[in-house]
Amino acid sequence: MIKKINHIGIAVNSLGLSSEIFSKLFEQSNPHTETVAEQKATISFYPVGDSSLELIESTASDSSISKFIEKRGEGIHHICLEVDDIKSEIVRLKNHQFQFVNDVPTAGGDGYWVVFLHPKSTNGVLIELCEKIK
Ligand code: ZN
Repeated sequence: MIKKINHIGIAVNSLGLSSEIFSKLFEQSNPHTETVAEQKATISFYPVGDSSLELIESTASDSSISKFIEKRGEGIHHICLEVDDIKSEIVRLKNHQFQFVNDVPTAGGDGYWVVFLHPKSTNGVLIELCEKIK
């Protein structure tokens, strides 16, 4: 079951520069920040009510974030939907012919398992599914 929008991911060139902007926007200067090796990225979270904005900076020139910024520039990268059981959602969505970028959950940021649906099957929107690691 899909529970809520967990966060919206925004690809940025520089977390340093973007943090100045978003810290002013949210009046919060010390966002939770971590590097996610699997995604070759460093991310900062700005909580907004029950969800958050996730700023994503690439840590490698061959990462998906680097390729995204090269092609489309900075901006909204993905929408993350939180689910109660990521493995059963993968099966359910595959039965509906959704394609996945990766269909084996990996450790994302902030203590979640994540997978990505391919934007080809979701009207050009990259959708991440996440489930809190128990
Ligand atoms: Zn995300």
